[in-house]
Amino acid sequence: MSEKIKFCRFDHKGERGWGIVINDQGIQRIEGDPFQGYAEGTGRLALPDVRLLPPSLPSKIVALGLNYRDHAEEVKLKLPEEPLLFIKPSTAVIGPGDPIVIPPMSQRVDYEGELGVVIGKRVKNVDVARAEEAIAGYTCFNDVTARDLQYKDKQWTRAKSFDTFAPMGPWLVKGLDPSNLALTTELNGKVVQSTSTTQLIFPVEQIVSFISQVMTLLPGDVIATGTTSGIGPMEPGDRVTVTIEGIGSLTNPVVKA
Ligand code: ZN
Repeated sequence: MSEKIKFCRFDHKGERGWGIVINDQGIQRIEGDPFQGYAEGTGRLALPDVRLLPPSLPSKIVALGLNYRDHAEEVKLKLPEEPLLFIKPSTAVIGPGDPIVIPPMSQRVDYEGELGVVIGKRVKNVDVARAEEAIAGYTCFNDVTARDLQYKDKQWTRAKSFDTFAPMGPWLVKGLDPSNLALTTELNGKVVQSTSTTQLIFPVEQIVSFISQVMTLLPGDVIATGTTSGIGPMEPGDRVTVTIEGIGSLTNPVVKA
């Protein structure tokens, strides 16, 4: 495992770029990005002076249905034999602090706190043993879901795809072991989901390998690895936070359309 590095994308008075977060206080500008390679840029910024942007612009987000053992046991579902995949569109992506917009079509919009895997290079048919090489790093992800439409439609596309339904951030952490990380979701400061990635039915490397046997994964693509028990609705005025050990916290306000 290489040294841990936190990459962020930022907007500083209209200047957009990538940086490395230093001690959760400052940002060292870089030339390039975490995918193609980079060199140290000139000048530091203070974290409070920038707006953080989503730490990737994925061509697609591939998400998993049921993938937590504790959640499967709670809802008395049999453990799946292989990952259940669905897609969220790139247009749903928002960054830290950006509002999640409740669409008029839905009467119930839920949070789902998840570990996000960000792909670092183009891969197809990668085996489990080499899957780690395809990963750029990890981020917090909220798989926002219109629960009523998910049940109504059977197909999940509409329920998972509204604009703002893919908050991610606050940054992309490279050099993290994803196998034993605490994950919590808080709604207005109250813990509503709490688990560990030790509960993942399909571990990260297996997920990356499996998906790459279906579709080519591109640099920046994001995999949302599934959620645990405690999913529930959000209302306008709420604040939702996904926190993952070793990464940080992703907070988004919830607003009415
Ligand atoms: Zn999910």
